[in-house]
Amino acid sequence: MKKFFITTPIYYVNDKPHIGHTYTTVAADILSRFYRNGASTFFLTGTDEHGTKVCQSAQKQEVEVKKFCDEVAQNYQKTWKALDVNYDFFVRTTDKYHEEFVKLILTRLKDNGFLYEGEYEGLYCEGCEEFKSEKDLVSGCCPIHKTFPIKLKEKVWFFKLAQFQDKIFSHLGKDFVVLPQKREAELTSFLKNEKLHDVAISRPRDRVEWGIDLPWDNNQVIYVWIDALFNYLSGPLSSRGFNFSNKHWEDILEALNDFWPADIQLIGKDILRFHAVIWPALLLALGLPLPKRLFVHGFFTINGEKISKSLNNAVNPVDLKKEFGLAALRYYLFRDFSFGEDGDVSLENLVERYNADLADNIGNLLSRSLTLVQKYGALKQKIEFKKDEDLENLFRNFKFKEALEKINLLAREKNQLIDKEKPWALIKEAHQGKEFAIENNSQIKFEKILISTLETLLIISYYLKPFLPLEAEKIETAIKNLEPEIVFPKILLEDTITKKQDINK
Ligand SMILES: [Zn+2]
Repeated sequence: MKKFFITTPIYYVNDKPHIGHTYTTVAADILSRFYRNGASTFFLTGTDEHGTKVCQSAQKQEVEVKKFCDEVAQNYQKTWKALDVNYDFFVRTTDKYHEEFVKLILTRLKDNGFLYEGEYEGLYCEGCEEFKSEKDLVSGCCPIHKTFPIKLKEKVWFFKLAQFQDKIFSHLGKDFVVLPQKREAELTSFLKNEKLHDVAISRPRDRVEWGIDLPWDNNQVIYVWIDALFNYLSGPLSSRGFNFSNKHWEDILEALNDFWPADIQLIGKDILRFHAVIWPALLLALGLPLPKRLFVHGFFTINGEKISKSLNNAVNPVDLKKEFGLAALRYYLFRDFSFGEDGDVSLENLVERYNADLADNIGNLLSRSLTLVQKYGALKQKIEFKKDEDLENLFRNFKFKEALEKINLLAREKNQLIDKEKPWALIKEAHQGKEFAIENNSQIKFEKILISTLETLLIISYYLKPFLPLEAEKIETAIKNLEPEIVFPKILLEDTITKKQDINK
């Protein structure tokens, strides 16, 4: 049976795992945990390990390139483990199975007439490792690296991207949906108004040595971006120990059926074109279906500043966990702005949100209701759980912020109900009533309030679980045993501020 397949981009090993990667990866974790209730899911993440920049970084550290990649890939794996990210497979583009797969794919594309040899001349940004069009440049400079691109002319292999323009367009919004809607609109207008050009898929080996050989021309290396895109197919296959070297294309297609098309591919807005134009064209050339949904998330700033290596604010997520706890981190990233939009985060807000929502609202509701049960006697009715359609829809539509708002609203309403009805007073009334009147109105009311509160808390824990698996389980256990527990101890801002400054150093 086909698995519900969720992917993150694979992260470039030239960068350490930071809070930006964390955002995408935890989002994928949340979705896969949500969909795992009822479906068999497959969650893929990994690292992108080829290209000149990787070579340069390794040289700078005087480490052999593969060893450098091993270390960074391991660092990513450790980070995801520390953040309770439960992926199914970690794909690495320098692993043999991936390299073999990419060679097989490129050979197939060539055999089917989608590749040709030609000469490429253009403006090349060494930082981006890509050719730039005049339009991409700001005052002649790469807007990302603030450097002038160099003029480069070289013999390379091309993929016939141009011929797929109408085909991609005809799938867009149908079996290939790009979300949020504004991103699809952006793409529609791009495909309508701009003419697609064929793209180079290889580089001369003398310029880029760290990459996969073009199978029929070992003076050429496969362009890192093309190589990387195929991780979405090589990853799930190799998770099964699939051996590419002696398989027929039909065997590969059959094995891919269990995963592909991906149900959700999460990407950042900076890599939209690769994933919404080149990737679909490559898939169409191979006769494969397009991913069902491409979800494009926004970027966030920290205290108003862009996250970047040079600004040195690329906060290490493991440090944040040590400082504020994993619950605060995983919760906060999705609480303050809608998934798909840009937003700003601050560590003060992180603490405030945690305390206001989790400690004072949800945590308080749990401990006060269970304390009442413990103090004033057993409940006669069963506590039952029912899914909340509204929350189901919010998750299915990637509305994480809105889901967390709804969860908090549910808790707030019950806290208000308890404030208003004062169940502790009701139970005293009930006990003062006639000795033999086993059930009187106050007793019934007391029971009703607490049952409905605990049922709401079960809904809350169920939908909080993808965000906070550990804490949600604690809530469920507390309700099952009717034992009050402090699941969300308050974070004292005074304790954290000095440490926080250390982190920002
Ligand atoms: Zn650049």
